[in-house]
Amino acid sequence: MSVLALGEGLYEVESASDHTYLVDLEGGRCTCPDHVFRGVRCKHVRRVAIEINEGRTPPPGERAVGCHDCGETVFVDENAAGPVYCDRHALRSGDTVVDRETGDRLTVVDVSDLRADAVRIQATGDSVADYATNENYASDVPVVGAVYPHATVAPNGVVPESLRVYVFPRTRLEKRPAGRGRPATA
Ligand SMILES: [Zn+2]
Ligand SMILES: [Zn+2]
Repeated sequence: MSVLALGEGLYEVESASDHTYLVDLEGGRCTCPDHVFRGVRCKHVRRVAIEINEGRTPPPGERAVGCHDCGETVFVDENAAGPVYCDRHALRSGDTVVDRETGDRLTVVDVSDLRADAVRIQATGDSVADYATNENYASDVPVVGAVYPHATVAPNGVVPESLRVYVFPRTRLEKRPAGRGRPATA
């Protein structure tokens, strides 16, 4: 039997005999004769529960999406917007990333839920999405703040200007494997 998540807690189950039934998991209902005429908890409902337990099908309220960077299947909230990333490619503060436009390495300092077309760059007043070198990236993706790792260090400490945070559309940054270039945390 194959199971397809349709969203809103509904699943399509194709039986071995080529019949297709609709399962409402939380209601424990199915369109097959076993359930409709005999009122039993049928094998289709059980199959959907097993597929969810084994991580092959998203649970009610979630949907399956491919990771933006590698295509691996990830389950996310049904209403989640924007690009989705697997554990390996998800960004966290302190991660090292590469700017796809310039090849520069940066360190992530902030991962936001705000969209690139909703965040303004202070110097110009334009949105991050409108910024010239961001034109190849979707405007509805979240923004990420990052600093260049080559901070200028003066005799009396780090020069604040060299730690300026730059804001990028999330899809412009590519995560580097952990372990290299990761700054020591205090
Ligand atoms: Zn059934
Ligand atoms: Zn990935």
